[in-house]
Amino acid sequence: MDLDKATYVRIIENLHDGLYFVDKNRTITFWNKAAERISGFSADDVLGKSCSDNILTHVDREGNNLCWDMCPLAATLADQTPRESQVYMHHKDGHRILVSIRVTPLIDTDGRIVGGIELFSDISSQEFNEVRIKELEKLALLDNLTQLANRNYITQELQARFAEGQRHKVPFGLFFIDIDHFKEFNDMYGHNVGDEVLKFVARNFETNSRPFDLYGRWGGEEFIGIIPNIDREDLEKLGNRIRLLIENSYIVHKNQKLQITISIGATIAKDNDTIDSLIKRADSLLFKSKNAGRNLLTID
Ligand code: GH3
Ligand code: MG
Ligand code: MG
Repeated sequence: MDLDKATYVRIIENLHDGLYFVDKNRTITFWNKAAERISGFSADDVLGKSCSDNILTHVDREGNNLCWDMCPLAATLADQTPRESQVYMHHKDGHRILVSIRVTPLIDTDGRIVGGIELFSDISSQEFNEVRIKELEKLALLDNLTQLANRNYITQELQARFAEGQRHKVPFGLFFIDIDHFKEFNDMYGHNVGDEVLKFVARNFETNSRPFDLYGRWGGEEFIGIIPNIDREDLEKLGNRIRLLIENSYIVHKNQKLQITISIGATIAKDNDTIDSLIKRADSLLFKSKNAGRNLLTID
């Protein structure tokens, strides 16, 4: 395929990545449209200037100015070896943009080095998006105070468990857990200490769960535990172990040991259950534990 020079230039001009050429003295001889878009500098701003003329001033992740001793382009002009790295480029407006650069030597038909090419793409928005998505995921699925799964996450997990149950009949159990007389506790010690208790209870669940168990905060002082692969007898044992563990631990506040207890409703999911029917059953079992005096587990 024979393309004329104008076609090559058009292709290069319309590349998504920024591209520029320098001669042996690092004077910029070509600057494409994407380079203009990414850096804010137009071809008129940069052509005939050296890349070290305080224009692009590449800076590495540690903040070192690369123009003088560590310029990737200068290094490639010296040893004729292509290079890749991530650097910060100065935008014309003054802010820094994280770009991924690839530097290649430009060699003429006699094998002599005549300059270099730098191809660069803006990855700052990509990096920003990745961080933001992680933050959003966290916000959407984790409870802020306890860092346990939130109600959203619990519902998604139950949906997944039901789908799995229908496929391979994996039994799973559910705990509905509520702190006893928590209003009194808050009234006595204050809401902040109450919050400490919520975190303390959450840590107890987490450190005593098996790898596939999931504990989450359903709301207020109510928690749900989803326990896969368990029968009724073991579910009862596990629930009572957690109940006793919390009964026998404490937080220290102003040199005072503060203790709380929890009540639990426990049940195994049935074939015809829905998320709603399962949670309602566990909630009414919890209600029985409360009525029978609290610090109890009721299973059905
Ligand atoms: P019971 O044994 O019947 O469960 O009594 P209770 O006082 O725990 O139940 P009730 O539902 O009447 O009160 C729940 C209390 O939980 C009320 C509220 O002050 C407290 N609570 C709910 N969410 C939070 C929270 O995020 N932080 C704190 N500190 N307290 C909370
Ligand atoms: Mg409650
Ligand atoms: Mg309560």
